Amino acid sequence: MKGMVMHGTQSQKLECALYVVATPIGNLRDISLRALDILALSDTIAAEDTRNTANLLMHYSISAKNLVSLHQHNERGAAEKVIALLARGESVALVSDAGTPTISDPGSLLVAGVRAAGHKVIPVPGANAALAALSVSGLVSPHFLFYGFLPNRASARRRELENLAALRCTLVFYEAPHRILECVADLQAVFGHDREIVFAREITKFFESIQRCSLAEALDWLNEDSNRQRGEFVVLVSGAVEQKQGLDAESERVLAELLHDLPLKQAVQLAARITGVGRNMLYQHALSLKPR
Ligand code: SAM
Repeated sequence: MKGMVMHGTQSQKLECALYVVATPIGNLRDISLRALDILALSDTIAAEDTRNTANLLMHYSISAKNLVSLHQHNERGAAEKVIALLARGESVALVSDAGTPTISDPGSLLVAGVRAAGHKVIPVPGANAALAALSVSGLVSPHFLFYGFLPNRASARRRELENLAALRCTLVFYEAPHRILECVADLQAVFGHDREIVFAREITKFFESIQRCSLAEALDWLNEDSNRQRGEFVVLVSGAVEQKQGLDAESERVLAELLHDLPLKQAVQLAARITGVGRNMLYQHALSLKPR
């Protein structure tokens, strides 16, 4: 369907601004009509990988007026050049390799610099892997935390997961295929076996698959077929379940029996030994049972 979109506005001049333009995460049709207009009309396109963006532009028969590179390693210098273009009244579109720029992608330094220099920054929303994955996950919490990539080093990764362990919202991670097994092993070690995990793999591409299972089953599922470890992943994990407050019925019964025959302190000590429940919790409960 090459070139099917009619931009129809080729002669228009864009307002001077930095346009942050989302591009597809796989299926090239997942780009908005407005995004195509902005790419066709902007004086400069700053791209994470110019070859990659050239392919997208070619697919839509768009010829960029000026295509420059802005990636992780040259972002500061490239940002200065973009700010100079904006100071001359030009329009600049920022794109990354896939999805929304600045989301686990370069561009945040540029956006901050452009705003600090007093120029306008305009979002042109569209594809994003995290939101696409969340939308089909079936995880029901109304809240989520987008984490992005966990640290590569195992110790730092575990520390980060420990910091996230008590959160009750859905957790959303990006992960590379060569680290997916280690990542899931750490998720299991830190979060336990009961939570739900969703693997959203190759979204919008030929081998798209969405798999949901418990953390206990996750490694077996990945190991059953090495193809399941390939491609691009969003990994979602359901949030922590609220721990029930108070005593379970059996511990409550044991404590009540002991309180009947023993002084409070002794009853609590003995109940703690029998039930394995913490003394503090038993003590608080015993106080609430004591006649006033
Ligand atoms: N800016 C992008 C966005 O808006 O989603 C994310 C860029 S980040 C460098 C790349 C990571 O996003 C991949 O390693 C993977 O975790 C996730 N990702 C990107 N495209 C994906 C796809 N089609 N399916 C699943 N995950 C994808």
